[in-house]
Amino acid sequence: MITETLKPTADPSVSNPTTSKPSNGSAARATSQPSGSDESFFVDRNEPVAKHVDLPRIEAAVRSILAAVGEDPDRDGLLETPARVARMYAEMFAGLKSDPGRHLSKVFAENYDEIVLVRDISFCSMCEHHLLPFTGKAHIAYLPSGKVVGLSKLARVVEEVARRPQVQERLTQTVADMVEDRLSARGVAVVCESTHSCMTMRGVRKPGSLCLTSAMRGVFRKDPMSRAEVLELINRQPS
Ligand SMILES: [Zn+2]
Repeated sequence: MITETLKPTADPSVSNPTTSKPSNGSAARATSQPSGSDESFFVDRNEPVAKHVDLPRIEAAVRSILAAVGEDPDRDGLLETPARVARMYAEMFAGLKSDPGRHLSKVFAENYDEIVLVRDISFCSMCEHHLLPFTGKAHIAYLPSGKVVGLSKLARVVEEVARRPQVQERLTQTVADMVEDRLSARGVAVVCESTHSCMTMRGVRKPGSLCLTSAMRGVFRKDPMSRAEVLELINRQPS
């Protein structure tokens, strides 16, 4: 994941971007409380939370599919497959009933009004048409209006929105709307690029094809100069 702001940051690991002017000491104070137990969501990738998922029902369905394609669900190699697939779906769809926007509830007052861009946020989501994965990268830029958010929170939003049956177009728009709403950002640009298994393994079978989607909000939608600037930053090759 590459993080960029227009001004150099003193320490890229800090949770909020530095400003071009020294802050007055109180500026970086948190303006809201952390969201408590929600913070643990997705922290441990091995134990994702997904209480709404009905595991036995998925297991029965997977057994049914195996039988329907002519397999023997009771042969040794397949005995544990239905339970394994059920746990996998619980993980892949863990974001279905959650509000990923809550990651943006803790903001910092900051006198910074230039572009903040977090680039190359990897994601893996599930195409709702074929239940096959599509994987790629998201780039999120926003123009703050007096408040900024911890940079890793943008990655958390992508991670969680991706954990739903999805089309890439909706993933892109959902992330853009959340950032615009929760941060009252003056402008938001989200660009996603990904490879869809349903295009590479089946159907038209075109490995290497890339799907790009973008969602522009506020200034980036209205002003062609600002849009060109943010797209240039998103597309800039690392030096
Ligand atoms: Zn598909």
